[in-house]
Amino acid sequence: MPPFNTTDFIWMNGEMVPWQDAQVHVTAHGLHYGTGVFEGMRSYETPDGPAIFRLDAHMRRLHASARGYEMPIPYSVEALSEAALEVVRRNGLENSYLRPIAFFDTRSFAVWPRECPVSVAIIAVRIGAYITGGPEKGVRITLSSVRRIDASTLPPYVKAAGHYTNSVRAVQEAQRRGFDDAVLLNSRGDAAEGSGANLFVVRDGTLITNDVDASIVVGITRDSVLRIARDLGVPVQVRPISVGDLEVADELFFAGTAVEITPITELDGRVLGDGTPGAITRRLQQTFMNAVHGRLPQYREWLAYARSDDSSSARLPASGVAVGSV
Ligand code: PMP
Repeated sequence: MPPFNTTDFIWMNGEMVPWQDAQVHVTAHGLHYGTGVFEGMRSYETPDGPAIFRLDAHMRRLHASARGYEMPIPYSVEALSEAALEVVRRNGLENSYLRPIAFFDTRSFAVWPRECPVSVAIIAVRIGAYITGGPEKGVRITLSSVRRIDASTLPPYVKAAGHYTNSVRAVQEAQRRGFDDAVLLNSRGDAAEGSGANLFVVRDGTLITNDVDASIVVGITRDSVLRIARDLGVPVQVRPISVGDLEVADELFFAGTAVEITPITELDGRVLGDGTPGAITRRLQQTFMNAVHGRLPQYREWLAYARSDDSSSARLPASGVAVGSV
């Protein structure tokens, strides 16, 4: 992601505050021990005004991540969802990237965050059509020597700040090697996911992705892609992805909020197909982009519209997706 473009207001601990006033003290527990949990979500321009994609699912996952660290978030899923819509409205945003974060704040240097208050913020930054550029031309990736965190040490399905030092090391290595990004293997030696996105394989017309037991963050984009694939009649397999699967793949792509659907055109010098995004990847991508921009009625339930003249039930649809377990 490029450096962000600031906006006017950040929601912090129940109030809308000017961007420059949303400060944290250097003694915050989350800064020292990585004890923050966060989300990445997007708002998109639609024919009915800006809407946040799968808002309810993201806020439920934030709460689930917090439970993983025994962190009591003092705002409900509904209150946070309403706050996120207010951030979009107050900043006059259309296409934006939103970052809700909750963290143990300042009180003590003890590892046990017993007395640390929990602070919560929702930040939004303005973005163009793509954050990364990858969705159009694809990315070149390497198999990382850095293994993905494993349930025996850290819960991989929890989006915690500290867990991302794992991704940072993998991306640093990938960039050193001259690639855009990396695929991390899990402790079984199977392909887990990218540094910030889930991994999909297309082989013989079948779409393959792995499950929560592969040490992944169970992505909300992943869930959306699986639903779209089923709707389009693309056969789907949810099973472990071996390194061999990557080597014989017809197509590979990443799926995640920031990268959306990003084709992978090369793996460690091995060019996939003719080196341009594959046909099934393109088809899924096209439908996904139409869905997020509110152009397909069957996926409107995924959109929480920011316009304040909508009824609250229209703004906050139930997502109907079982991501609460992560
Ligand atoms: N895996 C990792 C490590 C991630 O950081 C993300 C981005 N949140 C994902 C997968 C994809 O999740 P989502 O589709 O919900 O953004």
